[in-house]
Amino acid sequence: MQITPQDVLLVTDVQNDFCPSGALAVPDGDAVIPIIHRIAPFFEHIILTQDWHPPGHHSFASAHPGKHPSEQVRVSYGEQTLWPEHCVQGTPGADFHPALQLARAELILRKGFRPEIDSYSAFFENDRTTATGLVGYLRERNLTRVFLTGLAYDYCVGYSALDARRLGFPVTIISDACRAIDLNGSVAAIEKQFAKAGVTLIESAAIPA
Ligand SMILES: [Zn+2]
Repeated sequence: MQITPQDVLLVTDVQNDFCPSGALAVPDGDAVIPIIHRIAPFFEHIILTQDWHPPGHHSFASAHPGKHPSEQVRVSYGEQTLWPEHCVQGTPGADFHPALQLARAELILRKGFRPEIDSYSAFFENDRTTATGLVGYLRERNLTRVFLTGLAYDYCVGYSALDARRLGFPVTIISDACRAIDLNGSVAAIEKQFAKAGVTLIESAAIPA
């Protein structure tokens, strides 16, 4: 697949807490790093996202007495899965994995900083209406195709991909540059939505070709 100057590589949440020994470790999460490093030089534009929660964030099970991680609660915008405390602002868990070396990245987009709303997608928070500003950034800079990598495939990568499609962008997920949580069939569920929305899935070996 030919990469053009209008393409952007979105590197999702490659943070300590989502990597092995982190608070919300995605199995094999750090394995995405060398793959991202191999393809990054083909992209003129790279954006990093960073999950960035205040202490006591509403997505933490610990903020809901009697609840445990991976249980669901009903919040103002619908069902919300509860997680262990992770990616708390200013803590080492919220830092990018030290092996991730993408000094050329042009933007670090932080999300999930509103105490009451979680944010899987890089475009909209989980209420589906609060914008992060990323779509404005892409449009103003004439970045027209979105390539997704990172963690986790079935949550933040997947929701970002679906939102980018909804906003009209051609979207490609580089699947071996992602790792999944796979909670209660979440991979099968999101892949069904990818097919419906027209999200393209490729392997990193297709870049460049
Ligand atoms: Zn989070």
